Amino acid sequence: MRVHVAGNVCIDTTFRLDRFPQAGETRNAMSHADGLGGKGANQAVAAARTGAPVTLWAATGRDAEAARIRAGLAGEVDMLRLTNFDLPTDRSTIAVDAGGENLIISGVSCAAAFKPLYHSDIGDEVGRGDIVVMQGNLDEEATADCLREANRKGARTILNASPLPKDTYPDFSSVDFLIVNEGEAQAISSFSNLKDAAAELTHLGAMNVIVTLGARGCLLLRRGSKPVSIPAPPVTAVDTSGAGDVLCGTFAGCLAKGASVASALEIAMRTAAIAVTRNGTLASCPSRQELIDLMK
Ligand code: ADP
Repeated sequence: MRVHVAGNVCIDTTFRLDRFPQAGETRNAMSHADGLGGKGANQAVAAARTGAPVTLWAATGRDAEAARIRAGLAGEVDMLRLTNFDLPTDRSTIAVDAGGENLIISGVSCAAAFKPLYHSDIGDEVGRGDIVVMQGNLDEEATADCLREANRKGARTILNASPLPKDTYPDFSSVDFLIVNEGEAQAISSFSNLKDAAAELTHLGAMNVIVTLGARGCLLLRRGSKPVSIPAPPVTAVDTSGAGDVLCGTFAGCLAKGASVASALEIAMRTAAIAVTRNGTLASCPSRQELIDLMK
């Protein structure tokens, strides 16, 4: 069983500053560094580190950043299916101040243009029993179409509806696992109570809903069952960015390797708990060896 992640990839440039500049001000950063990013790339790498076969379907330009993305992912994901557009490769500028607060500006030309079913062979390559993972960065209709096709082919689908859709997704009836954080669950469902919010998401079509709750763990609601709260392993968090991506990717990888939903989620939460004890987004994701040890 293969994991297919269809989503966005980008180059993140992170500037560390004492404080953010005000409008019209230029401020020198204390340091800056480039890294690989995008929720699609993060989730594909996390899935691949479980040892599952992973194909990443995404789009870049034809520039130097595209070559860096390809080189950065080549050692991680066993199949890279990057569509090339005559557009600049997506990138994010992340400013982090001395207090750890961040400001992010994202250029998303390729993600906005990429329609996986139309621009790639994903529709032909996904097979019965595969896992298809998508997020909220691609066009909403293209995402819904791709999930529907994956569902029709007998694949299991995971939608991490983040960032939030501009318009509410029409329905989640092609979604086997909807993964959202607390704020997203409340925003999509219009319920503040979490159990009501999760129930509403199943009424909107999702078979299973996982609401991630940061240090409090997550809530799992399987349609027809009672919601179950699963506590997170207690750790001292230093940087929670990317925790949700590590959780989604690991969950998908474990499912593809044949784990039950409960055990895939438990391993994913243990992996995410390690990730929050480290700095960075992709940099904080546990290594292949750490994941092998966790899965024993
Ligand atoms: P997002 O980063 O998408 O907003 P969350 O903050 O809910 O998502 O985190 C995703 C998952 O990462 C949580 O469900 C939990 O398993 C794990 N996690 C996040 N923060 C912590 C923490 N402080 N301690 C332990 N696990 C955490």
